Amino acid sequence: MIDVKEELCNHCGSCVKACPFGAIQIINQIAVIGEECTLCGACIQVCKACAIEIERKEIDIDYSRYKNVWVFAEIKDGKIRNVTYELLGKARQLAVELGQKVCAVLLGRDVKKLCKDLSAYGADKIFVAEDDSLEQYYTDPFTSVLVGLISKHEPNIVIYPATKIGRDLAPRVAATLEVGLTADCTGLSIQNGRLLQTRPAFGGNIMADIISVTRPQMATVRPNVMKKGSPYKDRTAEIVEIPVRIDRKGIRTIIKEIIGMKSSDAVPLDEADIIVSGGRGIGSKENFKIIEDLAGVLEAAVGASRSAVDLGWKPKSFQVGQSGTTVSPKIYIACGISGKIQHLVGMSGSDIIIAINKDPEAPIFNVADYGIVGDLNKVVPALTEALRKELASR
Ligand SMILES: Cc1cc2nc3c(=O)[nH]c(=O)nc-3n(C[C@H](O)[C@H](O)[C@H](O)COP(=O)(O)OP(=O)(O)OC[C@H]3O[C@@H](n4cnc5c(N)ncnc54)[C@H](O)[C@@H]3O)c2cc1C
Repeated sequence: MIDVKEELCNHCGSCVKACPFGAIQIINQIAVIGEECTLCGACIQVCKACAIEIERKEIDIDYSRYKNVWVFAEIKDGKIRNVTYELLGKARQLAVELGQKVCAVLLGRDVKKLCKDLSAYGADKIFVAEDDSLEQYYTDPFTSVLVGLISKHEPNIVIYPATKIGRDLAPRVAATLEVGLTADCTGLSIQNGRLLQTRPAFGGNIMADIISVTRPQMATVRPNVMKKGSPYKDRTAEIVEIPVRIDRKGIRTIIKEIIGMKSSDAVPLDEADIIVSGGRGIGSKENFKIIEDLAGVLEAAVGASRSAVDLGWKPKSFQVGQSGTTVSPKIYIACGISGKIQHLVGMSGSDIIIAINKDPEAPIFNVADYGIVGDLNKVVPALTEALRKELASR
C-alpha cells in the first residue's frame, strides 16, 4: 500500500519526474498516486520531505498468488549474455515442476530484437522495457523498473546472474521489496513446492540449503554453473511491452568512461572458449609469461589457482575455483596445478581438460582428458612453439 502524507507533501514535483511509470500527478498542491503505480519506490528515493510511504509487510502471505519463474536477462555489447541462457534452462526445469511459466525481463534501449533469443532458450513470456536511459546499466532505473514489475505481477521466483550487474541489482531489489535473497547459488531445485537454494557456506566447507519465507523467492547464480539448454528456434514467447519514462536527473550515479581491459586479460574468464591456467608450480610471477605466451597463441584467457593468486602472481580476478570464477571453456589447460577439490569445482565443467604436472600422482590427472607428466618449464614453451608453427602453416 502506498500513502502520501498530506501534511508533509510540499508539492515539489520531484516524485512526478522520478516515477518511471508516469503514475503521479500534483493535484491541488499535493502528490496524487494513480492506478499505474507499481510500488517501485522510485518516488520515495527522491522525496526530501519523506511524505510518501509504502507498506509492504504482509503477516499471512498467500503463497498461491505468486506465480511463474522469472529470469533477469543481462545484455552485454548488444547481445544477451550467455549466463542468461543458462538461467533460462534452469528456470524451465523449475517452472515445469511447478506447472508455471518462464518469464524473462529485458531492459535496455532498442532491445526488443533480442526477444527471439530469449524465446528460443525457454522464455514463455518476456517483459520488455525500452528507454534511452536503460542503454547502460544504472542501479536506480533498473531497480525501479524491476521492483515495479515484480510488485505488479508477483512472480514466485526471480533468478539473476551473479555477475557484476546482477550482484548490484538483486540485493537492491530485495531490500526495496523487503524479501530474502540467496547469493551465488550453485544449485536450485523444488522441494514441497518451494525453492531450495543451495550454496557453499563457511568458506566453502559446507553446502547450505536455504528456503525463503518471503515472496518472490530470489537467488543469484554464477555464470557457468547451470548448463545452457538447446535453443528451439520455433518457440515464440508472448512479448509484453512496458511503457517507461526515466528521468535522467533521478539517476544518482554517472558512468564517465568504460575502461577496456588490458590485452593479456582481454577475454573474460567466464566467457572464454580456451583457458590456460597456472598454479604454484609456475614458480614465480615472472614465469607466468610462459602461460601468457601459450594463451596468446591460442587466443585464450589466462587463469590461476588460488595459490598463485595468494602468492601475488596474478590478481584475484584471475582465480578459478570455488572462491574464484567458475568456468566451462571448451579447453582448459592446467599447468602446475595439483587439482585440489576447490580448484576442480570451478573448472571440471570444461569440455576438454589438459593437465601438465611433474607429479604423476597429482589429482588433476583424475579429471584430465589428456595429461602430460613433465616439467612445465620445458613442456609449456615447447607446446607454444609447436602450436605457433602449426597455426602459421595453416
Ligand atoms: C575455502 C577454500 C576455498 C578455496 N578456493 C579455491 C579456489 O577458488 N581456487 C583454487 O585454485 N584453490 C582454492 N582453494 C585452495 C586449494 O585448496 C589449493 O590450496 C590450491 O588450489 C592449490 O593450488 P595449486 O594447485 O596451484 O598449488 P599446489 O597444490 O601447491 O600444487 C602445485 C602443483 O604444481 C606441480 N608442480 C610444481 N613444479 C612443477 C613443474 N616445474 N612442472 C610441472 N608441475 C609442477 C606440483 O606437482 C603440484 O601438483 C581454496 C581453499 C579453501 C580452504
